Amino acid sequence: MSSLSQGALIRVLIRQGATIPCGRCRKPLTVDDAVEREHPIPKGIGGADDESNAIISHKHQCHRPHTTGRKFGAEKTVTTANSDIGKIAKVRRLTKAQEESRRRMLARDQGEERPRSKWPKQKMRWRNSFARGK
Ligand SMILES: [Zn+2]
Repeated sequence: MSSLSQGALIRVLIRQGATIPCGRCRKPLTVDDAVEREHPIPKGIGGADDESNAIISHKHQCHRPHTTGRKFGAEKTVTTANSDIGKIAKVRRLTKAQEESRRRMLARDQGEERPRSKWPKQKMRWRNSFARGK
């Protein structure tokens, strides 16, 4: 039993009559399909690498597009938004911004000046005076 790969085990079960739906599209897997184990919660943002965070899905039609954002059969990736790599990058950006904010807060307690704001302190008065013709 343990000498069979995951793919081989799934093919044996299908040949025995098991209907195993893809973890994403829910179409039954066939012995000819390339299948892959995937992490519904990406490992890169803290998803567990165990049974609790595992599904089996079509490798090319379902898993890869979800991971990379590239549509199945497309020549290039248009956007990684909402794909796993996009989510991982976003979490990294947010974590970096959070660390910078924490560093500045601690530095202020040590007496370091706040960096000058990029926004003017005075209200922008020109809008109304311009409308009145001044
Ligand atoms: Zn699928």
